[in-house]
Amino acid sequence: MKLIIIIIIIIIIIIIIIADKEKTWLWLTNGTLKKETEGLILAAQEQDIRTKAIEAKIEKSADDPKCRLCKETKETIDHILSCCKKIAQTDYKQRHNYVAQMIHWNLCLKYHLPAAKNWWDHKPAKVLENEHAKILWDFRIQTDKVLEHNTPDITVVEKKKVYPSKSYREVMAPYGILPPHPNIARLAEVIVGEESAYLFFQAGRDDMHNYVRRCKRIPEDEGAALFRQMVEAVSHCHQHGIVLRDLKLRKFVFANRERSKLLLENLEDSYVLNGPDDSLEDKHGCPAYVGPEILTSRGSYSGKAADVWSLGVALYTLLVGCYPFQGTKPASLFGKIRRGHFAVPEDLSPKARCLIRCLLRKNPAERLTAKEILLHPWLATAGTSGSSRSSAGGEQMVPEIGFVQRAEAKEEVEEGLYS
Ligand SMILES: [Zn+2]
Repeated sequence: MKLIIIIIIIIIIIIIIIADKEKTWLWLTNGTLKKETEGLILAAQEQDIRTKAIEAKIEKSADDPKCRLCKETKETIDHILSCCKKIAQTDYKQRHNYVAQMIHWNLCLKYHLPAAKNWWDHKPAKVLENEHAKILWDFRIQTDKVLEHNTPDITVVEKKKVYPSKSYREVMAPYGILPPHPNIARLAEVIVGEESAYLFFQAGRDDMHNYVRRCKRIPEDEGAALFRQMVEAVSHCHQHGIVLRDLKLRKFVFANRERSKLLLENLEDSYVLNGPDDSLEDKHGCPAYVGPEILTSRGSYSGKAADVWSLGVALYTLLVGCYPFQGTKPASLFGKIRRGHFAVPEDLSPKARCLIRCLLRKNPAERLTAKEILLHPWLATAGTSGSSRSSAGGEQMVPEIGFVQRAEAKEEVEEGLYS
């Protein structure tokens, strides 16, 4: 027994020494444990705790392998941890409530609702509400449809996904036109009440903005696999006459644990075109992602080309770890966007730098279309299936502040390119 423990400790120490900390942390937060590893842990615990199953089957010191509490099923570690009926209403329920309390506490922090300093002191209120969200605790949901589980532990109603009943058809219009696409979240359910309509979308996990912020920079082959999916979604919308207008990293969410499949979260703020003409007049979008023509033109601009500019900002940000145009005040940010100056770090591959420059072109007519982006050599050679985190990870990392200074010091003058 002692030998096994020593071997496990040595293996763990070796893993800690050789492993990439960033990747290890990612692996741990994903919560994926290999079946063999989980089996080994359970077997080691089983021997150490000496369950009845071990005593009867291996040690032969007892006759009956059945659980000493419920006396019904074989007493394995798995049974004690999560299957015993005898402690379901006490220990398991308490553990369940602790976890729910912790999740509720985290949600309160996320939506800026009142929460205790520590999760273990947090007492979830039946209803909490502010301008961002409403959180219900152990609340029966009343709808005009029959729902299978109508008393969830926690219900979060994000207010921006709740629309007045009168206008929700307008919001849903793009979904009627757009054929399903694997990289665009499906509208899963619509519940219409007398005053409000609730739209529920195919669930996503973490969004790309948070992911990039955590990783600082994403390696090129993983970046290509993710960016390809973003472009596929935009290209599908453009092909069917929908301009997205408010494109940004935050709009893309991960559909799986491995963070390899992306979904466009919803079609909010999108615009349905009447024909082949994609000129728009109203100004829309997130300051960091807005194209120069929207800032300078008084008349109309091409909606699709503006979406492509936003894709360029997204691509730059995920590969470099900061926005191409930055400013503490809107006036200085917009000034930089209008001038179209930005620096591309030289440690990016030539193909990646080329694609960034083909998207962030000051003249909208010179930008690639979404469909053309998919044919660019950077995407054509990399990342046609899933992600691969294994290459070019740690050594590309540049501390954010250091990078900004370095980039400013040797900012390339790209005036000639654009004028
Ligand atoms: Zn039992």
